[in-house]
Amino acid sequence: MVLVCVGLGSNVGNRASNLLCAYDRIVALEDVQPLKLSQFYETQPAGGPSQPMFLNAVLSIITAISPHQLLEQFQRIEALMGRVRTVKWGPRNIDIDILLYGDEVVDDDQLKVPHPMMHTRLFVLEPLIEIDPDIVHPVLKKTIIQLYKERICLNQANDFPLISS
Ligand code: ADP
Ligand code: MG
Repeated sequence: MVLVCVGLGSNVGNRASNLLCAYDRIVALEDVQPLKLSQFYETQPAGGPSQPMFLNAVLSIITAISPHQLLEQFQRIEALMGRVRTVKWGPRNIDIDILLYGDEVVDDDQLKVPHPMMHTRLFVLEPLIEIDPDIVHPVLKKTIIQLYKERICLNQANDFPLISS
């Protein structure tokens, strides 16, 4: 059994009920035990076309389902919920990503775990702190709280005005 952190996002339709519907479907899967669902965070879209604000959350589960089987199940739930893939990083009623699968590292055409962008996104790191700030990123070898602090510092550094002489 492995602790898996799952990222949920929605920016189309009733976003909160979309996240809850995804939650219900994930925890109804055979061999999945829910652990914790974070609060819902309203966030700016990262990349892609101009689009509405997202609602994001992280869910932790315990499961024996393999990483690729879990991805398949999540894609099935996305399809069942009527997700239509249009433009890359475009609006979506539901997005279900595998953020962390214990300390396993997967890197192939279908699946990359840890999620390659997770350490750069405050809307992932903030809810992950609620799940457990001491989880260690298996590639970067840093805790979630360390990654969060680094990201906050980077963002603040970018806020300073450039001084030109
Ligand atoms: P994104 O979540 O990046 O906005 P999609 O949800 O449309 O984009 O997923 C695009 C592809 O990303 C999927 O077909 C899937 O094979 C791949 N993928 C790679 N790593 C992951 C992961 N950790 N979680 C979910 N999908 C992933
Ligand atoms: Mg996705």
